[in-house]
Amino acid sequence: MEYFAVPVAKLIEEFAKLPGIGKKTAQRLAFHILDLNTEEANSLAKSIVEAKKNIKYCSICSNLTDRDPCPICSSKKRDKSVICVVEDPRDIVAMERTREFNGLYHVLHGSISPMDDIGPEDIKIKELLQRINKEEIKEVIIATNPTIEGEATAMYISKLLKPMGIKITRIAHGIPVGGDLEYADEVTLSKALEGRREI
Ligand SMILES: [Zn+2]
Repeated sequence: MEYFAVPVAKLIEEFAKLPGIGKKTAQRLAFHILDLNTEEANSLAKSIVEAKKNIKYCSICSNLTDRDPCPICSSKKRDKSVICVVEDPRDIVAMERTREFNGLYHVLHGSISPMDDIGPEDIKIKELLQRINKEEIKEVIIATNPTIEGEATAMYISKLLKPMGIKITRIAHGIPVGGDLEYADEVTLSKALEGRREI
């Protein structure tokens, strides 16, 4: 990369760190940025800094938000007796697209994975328990991904919650095993939600 001026090489290097961006795309993006006028470049840089500065975790559900509690947790229209547990904030976006679910969420920010040294204490399970102890929850829908880690996490949570006398359901697997909730289409995801079973 030595034939690039240092600032350009640095820009390419930063883009190449982003998910799904190879070296060629990183170069294309870097040159695109250099073609922008100063105002456009500033606006892009500012939106990165602002998002990073203003987005935090909701103190109730751990979703990403610029308001605490987040709009879902503070909505009066949502059924506060049902919590849908997901691994990632992006899964909430996928679930909301289905328009089938009107309860609240809980984001774990990961899944239990002994291979990667991620245990129950490394994801937001404790926070889920605290919520259930504090609020009147009737049903917990576990919508972790249908991967080995997602299944292990679902089993772990269900064992923890069973003695608390709450209905615990797992979304049905219209979603391919090994797949990601985030990439499931709305119809598959609505069906999976509809066909959830008690565990
Ligand atoms: Zn929230």
